[in-house]
Amino acid sequence: MDVPIGELVERQKQYYDSGITRDVRFRLDMLQKLRQTIVGAEERIFDALHRDLNKPKAEAYGTEIGIVLHELRFAMKHLKRWVKPRKVRSGFAVGGKSYVTPEPYGTALIISPWNYPVNLTFAPLIAAIAAGNTAVLKPSELTPSVSALIAALVRDNFDQRYIAVVEGGPEDSAELLEQPFDSIFFTGSSRVGKIVAEAAAKKLIPVTLELGGKSPCLVHRDADLKLAARRIAYGKFTNGGQTCVAPDYLLVHREAKQELLDRLRGEIERFYGKTPIRNPNMTKIVNERHFDRLKGYLHEGTVAIGGETDPLLMRIAPTVIENVSPDANVMKEEIFGPILPVLEYEDIDEAIRFVLEKPKPLALYVFAKDDSVQQRVLTRVSFGGGCINDTLLHLANPYMPFGGVGESGTGSYHGEYGFRAFSHYKSVLKQTTAFDIPFRYPSSKAGYRFM
Ligand code: NAD
Repeated sequence: MDVPIGELVERQKQYYDSGITRDVRFRLDMLQKLRQTIVGAEERIFDALHRDLNKPKAEAYGTEIGIVLHELRFAMKHLKRWVKPRKVRSGFAVGGKSYVTPEPYGTALIISPWNYPVNLTFAPLIAAIAAGNTAVLKPSELTPSVSALIAALVRDNFDQRYIAVVEGGPEDSAELLEQPFDSIFFTGSSRVGKIVAEAAAKKLIPVTLELGGKSPCLVHRDADLKLAARRIAYGKFTNGGQTCVAPDYLLVHREAKQELLDRLRGEIERFYGKTPIRNPNMTKIVNERHFDRLKGYLHEGTVAIGGETDPLLMRIAPTVIENVSPDANVMKEEIFGPILPVLEYEDIDEAIRFVLEKPKPLALYVFAKDDSVQQRVLTRVSFGGGCINDTLLHLANPYMPFGGVGESGTGSYHGEYGFRAFSHYKSVLKQTTAFDIPFRYPSSKAGYRFM
């Protein structure tokens, strides 16, 4: 970026003030342009994701490009409805007309992580554009090829007074957080989320925080264990377990545990072959620090499945560990890798109590046939979102808000919820001048009593 950050933000603010980005036709044109940009760069995106994370093509399409294009189509289809002012009753203001109308916040800052670096940068950008904002993007320094590609694509296709990319790490991010943005959208760890929230609070900037945490997966004894194993293996080991909503740990009914482990072993073999560590289509662990951290967890229990590591290729085989103490690091920290600890329970209330002792998770999954067991878990535990008898898929539905609660985040996005995350809802009363009701004035004999 050749322009100093302060000047860049100032130019974006001036551009926003010109009013051009509010025009709905302009927003639709820009969404279309973003679509063309992404479609035209598909091979370059695959290549960058492969270089940074060894992401296989099918996975890169399904979890990054495909999801972004779906979100784009959805926004373009529904935008005209989202921008419409909504009429409401006028209450005491007899004769008046009231409505609530969305307006863009203005200039947005979007900070994204490395694990789905394309999806988690472009999906918030789609929402920001749809809502009529200008935006500065700060992708992650841990996936430098993707970050450089996003910067090039944006530079070549958009006016930087409208959309710009600042590349870099925590220092650049910190400098951005000092700027007078009108909204901040952050995706990343709860630790950095607190730093972002603090910076936003100093300037009273509205903030959306999409954070992480330990998402539990409960498997009851009556669950369809064959399907549960397949869907858990998919949710946990996709992207090398580096998914914010991956099942972090399993809580399994004692009677179902052995069969579930046997079936998990079978599904892992079906997905990744007999020796997954040698499968060239395994997403790698992002860097050495995370690789070493994850390796450390392998000694905190008994390895039931997998356990192999390859420091040269930075791969860890899909692994399940048992006999884990609830006080072990692997049960205290977000795992964010292909290691799945399994703990047992006797009674569903015991499992619920275990989850309730931890911060509110981003996702929760429950595998059970019994409706009352499902409901018991869903009503007693607060979490961002989740699935009954599946994993991950709730986040791919743009009709539902995606976000956390408590330590797993504040606010949400996807579909119209993304539009709302970048909009202020302005309330307007258009009062009649045809008559005036005198009761509210101090001169009225009725005084304020009519209220
Ligand atoms: P991170 O918090 O380390 O980094 C996220 C972004 O913040 C990066 O762009 C980074 O450069 C920037 N950053 C780092 N330190 C900073 C600082 N001190 N000040 C300002 N900015 C700083 O997260 P990560 O390692 O990139 O991603 C993994 C985390 O993100 C996990 O906790 C995961 O659960 C979470 N996550 C959440 C979602 C979601 O949608 N809720 C999605 C993906 C990842």
